[in-house]
Amino acid sequence: MKNLMSKIISLSKRRGFIFQSSEIYGGFSSCYDFGPLGVKMKNNIKEVWWDDMIKNHENIVGLDAAILMSPRVWEASGHLTAGFADTLVECKSCHKRFRADEIKKQGKDRGGTAPKVCPECGGELTKPRKFNLMMRTFVGPVEEKAAVSYLRAETCQGIYVNFENVLNSMRLKIPFGIAQIGKAFRNEITPKDFIYRTREFEQMEMQWFCHPKKATKYFNFWVKERIRWYQNLGIKKKNLRIKEIPKKELPHYAKKGIDIEYKFPFGWREIEGIHNRGDFDLSNHSKYSGKDLRYFDEETKEKYFPYIVETSGGVDRSFFVFLVDAYQEIKGGRTKTTKPTKEVEILLKLHKKLAPIKVAILPLVRNKPELVKKAKEVYQMLKPYFRSQYDELGSIGRRYRRGDEIGVLYAMTIDFDTLKNDDVTIRWRDSMEQIRVDIKKLSEVLKQLLADEIEFNKDDKLIKTLSKQTLF
Ligand code: ATP
Repeated sequence: MKNLMSKIISLSKRRGFIFQSSEIYGGFSSCYDFGPLGVKMKNNIKEVWWDDMIKNHENIVGLDAAILMSPRVWEASGHLTAGFADTLVECKSCHKRFRADEIKKQGKDRGGTAPKVCPECGGELTKPRKFNLMMRTFVGPVEEKAAVSYLRAETCQGIYVNFENVLNSMRLKIPFGIAQIGKAFRNEITPKDFIYRTREFEQMEMQWFCHPKKATKYFNFWVKERIRWYQNLGIKKKNLRIKEIPKKELPHYAKKGIDIEYKFPFGWREIEGIHNRGDFDLSNHSKYSGKDLRYFDEETKEKYFPYIVETSGGVDRSFFVFLVDAYQEIKGGRTKTTKPTKEVEILLKLHKKLAPIKVAILPLVRNKPELVKKAKEVYQMLKPYFRSQYDELGSIGRRYRRGDEIGVLYAMTIDFDTLKNDDVTIRWRDSMEQIRVDIKKLSEVLKQLLADEIEFNKDDKLIKTLSKQTLF
């Protein structure tokens, strides 16, 4: 689709999904704020991930570790040394900095080699040099070397240093996993592409501790599981792929790794990494802390450093993926009228678990107090149980479209028949099908519709029984 990125950015701002940070001050590079709908959707993503990890899998527990940690953690993890540095080149005239690997990729994409001059102004570039991505801060009132600390660059280190605490307090046995969602910070050289690469972002990571001999089996298992997660939430198969990371490009801690990539409007890019980290983390933290973090197997009497298989995804990147994948434009309008219209209607076909608003309650017109009163009653009735929105402004068609644009699943109209029969029309976002439902049964019908497997289908027996069987 032409200009998809600018359309997504504009919809995000217009409808309260994502705003630029500090916008009234001209913005703050690469930082974004999630608006009223954005925060709901982001929480939905996190909830679905959390539930999938903790409820659907056995032996996974949660953790919420602090962002600030002992700087020794980052020495042990390799983040303060060569391990966590990108190579950058700088333009000698405009002083813009670029990641050397990105410049190389740009050259390759154009069928040549890496450009030797600045892609922005044509100026001369410096030789490549290493640039550490850790964000530094000071802890305590004195800004001195001893007070230097770091905003965590990845959430998983909080998991490794708590390995023993979690193991003992929960009386776990290997294999088991620890899941965590939280903020991470990286001083990225070239943050770009909206919320794809930012300096502050959220990760959802699960670290699976297992016997070294089983690591390959679990690695393959988790790759499948994570692909399944994206597909179950509606991401189109054709837009997902797995990229195996060649040995020489693997991060310093990994024995094997793949990226799950998504086809963004700007090309195929990573959305999640899955790695077999071997015993790198636990053995290094043992070495640096002096604590023996080996696991003792009571049955086999074996003592060993468990291997770790990690699934490391970004909340913001998945948010972006779900928006892009759900975005559709229907030229000429969705409703078939006799006159062709020039209108382009937007339909955000978000999965029902992710949609920020599930139900809209709409009085047919707003200048009839009895309709407004009834609609508000229905709204109050549903609000505690379903993410609902009351909307009375504009024609009913316009209100349906406003709902479609933000992915509202079910819109219900309170009309004159409602006053007579105490029932409402429910319209489904995706097919625009409608059913008539008794107000008394409304909560039950919505509960069924929002349940995991059920799709809206006016021929569905269940819906028929629950509704008044007066289908349109
Ligand atoms: P990239 O190659 O894009 O810099 P990475 O390989 O360094 O990513 P990981 O360290 O594997 O990324 O981080 C795991 C996940 O965290 C990524 O797949 C992504 O979803 C998310 N992530 C990492 N860096 C950023 C960032 N700067 N902005 C937003 N999300 C990020």
